[in-house]
Amino acid sequence: CGIVGYIGKDNAKNIVINGLKRLEYRGYDSAGVAFIDSGELKIFKKSGKIRNLEFKLNKDLSLPHVAIGHTRWATHGEPNDINAHPHTDCSGKIAVVHNGIIENFTELKKSLENRGHKFKSQTDTEVIAHLVEEEIQKGKNLQEAVLSAVAKLKGSYAAAVIYEGEPDKIVCVRKDSPLVIGIGEGENFIASDVPAFLSYTNKVIFLNDNECAVVTADNVQIFDLNGHKVEKEIKKIPWSI
Ligand code: GLU
Repeated sequence: CGIVGYIGKDNAKNIVINGLKRLEYRGYDSAGVAFIDSGELKIFKKSGKIRNLEFKLNKDLSLPHVAIGHTRWATHGEPNDINAHPHTDCSGKIAVVHNGIIENFTELKKSLENRGHKFKSQTDTEVIAHLVEEEIQKGKNLQEAVLSAVAKLKGSYAAAVIYEGEPDKIVCVRKDSPLVIGIGEGENFIASDVPAFLSYTNKVIFLNDNECAVVTADNVQIFDLNGHKVEKEIKKIPWSI
């Protein structure tokens, strides 16, 4: 299972698909991508191999500059197209990819349903999208909304979120599941593991547990879960692929 994200000048969709292929060794049962094109969030996902997803994407001619992708190893909900990531909220403006397990998802899902949220999948992950939606509706920005949402989660997660309302960024968080940031020139990457982007950059920031990254094309900022800025070292990976 794996996560890849890209924001920058190039075709984000292709870079993310290539990155997911580099993470195939981690194992998966389905794959998907979300990207924002001309102000609109689009999601493509498919069970089985990444080439099934590519086949679906062939018909899509958009050239987005921001995308997140996922290879899933199902823990909650059978491996099918609907349970594949990315997952979205009711409005369809927020997309979430997640590796790990949300242990308290049943309670969270019940209370969200009581507040009118409709779920599409059987996954634990989908609660994250609805929690973020709820916080955005309260007037928070994407980063604040993600921090408030993860404060309610128990379990493990590496997660990345994009939102139609703030198309210039990827917000990601981690706890007990790996996530690294790749620093490029006018472009930045996120991934579960370095090989996903090593052909583009060898400069990386390793996200620690309970850290949040706000990644734009020209900037990467790291915060703790209270929203306080954390200074991080950029490391150089001494090998290439
Ligand atoms: N628990 C999530 C799911 O079953 C994520 C699985 C993963 O890490 O790929 O959809």
